[in-house]
Amino acid sequence: MQNITVLGATGSIGQSTLDVIARHPDQYQVHALTCHQQVESLIQQAIIHQPKFLVITDPAYYVQAQQLAKQAKLSAEVLSGAESLQYVAEHPHVDCVMAAIVGAAGLLPTLSAVKAGKKVLLANKESLVMSGSLFIQEVQRSGAILLPIDSEHNAIFQCLPATYQYGKPQQSGIDKILLTGSGGPFLTTPVAELASKSPQQACAHPNWDMGRKISVDSATMMNKGLEFIEVCWLFGVSPQQVDVVIHPQSVIHSMVQYNDGSVLAQLGNPDMRTPIAHAMGYPERIESGVAKLDFSNMQNFSFSQPDYQRFPNLKLAIEAASQGQYASTALNAANEVAVAAFLRGQLNFTGIAKLNNEVLQRVTSQSLRSIDEVIAYDQQVRRQAQQCLQEVA
Ligand code: NDP
Ligand code: MG
Repeated sequence: MQNITVLGATGSIGQSTLDVIARHPDQYQVHALTCHQQVESLIQQAIIHQPKFLVITDPAYYVQAQQLAKQAKLSAEVLSGAESLQYVAEHPHVDCVMAAIVGAAGLLPTLSAVKAGKKVLLANKESLVMSGSLFIQEVQRSGAILLPIDSEHNAIFQCLPATYQYGKPQQSGIDKILLTGSGGPFLTTPVAELASKSPQQACAHPNWDMGRKISVDSATMMNKGLEFIEVCWLFGVSPQQVDVVIHPQSVIHSMVQYNDGSVLAQLGNPDMRTPIAHAMGYPERIESGVAKLDFSNMQNFSFSQPDYQRFPNLKLAIEAASQGQYASTALNAANEVAVAAFLRGQLNFTGIAKLNNEVLQRVTSQSLRSIDEVIAYDQQVRRQAQQCLQEVA
């Protein structure tokens, strides 16, 4: 029996994780569930999964959560504040942590799980993008098992040789990692119309049902940019060894090309329960509830190269991957400010990339030697981005 903490349980990934857990009551038990504000959903989840702890990170919702937990006769201890996330991530009774908080808020709790040597299922790509080598060093030091949940990275992980050694692609015969992406809802929209796209249109992804932040990132392809940086850190490859391939059907979730001309791909329906079940069960395979691919009814697959004029955010991220950690950290911070402003109606769609570019022009190269320095730098760039917002909006 494995004890699991689900950080960000009320989100899209959190809900899919609980769906997989519910299919295997004999193998997995929920230790803790966390949310930021959606306490009613959290309590509904707790009634089903009976965790030992509930964490509500926004203190304004704590009293309501306590009342609801009492009404539902839950035995769970209800905790408040971001520090409590670390407590439930590193708790000695926990075997496995699903890191599914969105954005930079996921960094410290995810790192706590890593430092405690847990099996860490990483959905929160922003934490790795922000802290790169510091994060990976902690994984190596603690012996944590880091398994990617992002469907592309999970696919790449499955296509790499089992003997693959971190940072040594050539010795394993690897030529390129081919990171696929659908291109999102605006792949064929006339570029001149992009500026007027609404949050609702940006969040209507053709293939995936996801949280709002990652949905906007998919529409600008910043998501693919963050994933590009994530690939470099997760698998120890250089930016030159990664190519982005547009594949609008989202059935191939990424590929690894070998020196002998072989290309290994992982395929499946676009449903996050597949990578979640893969990582939860690893190295075994467990049932996920995802419909099997029906090859008799498959659309034609198509592939193309990304258009950086349409997706300037993708170019910014690929460049940042070569510029050093400070650039990736800055880009992630600027983008979180930009996307939040877009979702609030303060910035138009094309303003997101403009703001990100403007912030990246203003930051200067510096080394980030500790997580404290990463967090301080993230905060500093957010303040700069807020200033730029007044000018760009
Ligand atoms: P959602 O927005 O659906 O959920 C986010 C979760 O984080 C919610 O539980 C939310 O709580 C919680 N949360 C939000 N803000 C904070 C905060 N400041 N402190 C603590 N908790 C917070 O996001 P997704 O599930 O879509 O994405 C989660 C992560 O997984 C992201 O990093 C994303 O990039 C990654 N990912 C997601 C995929 C997907 O298909 N959705 C695919 C690949 C990666 P509340 O509900 O109370 O607001
Ligand atoms: Mg992805």
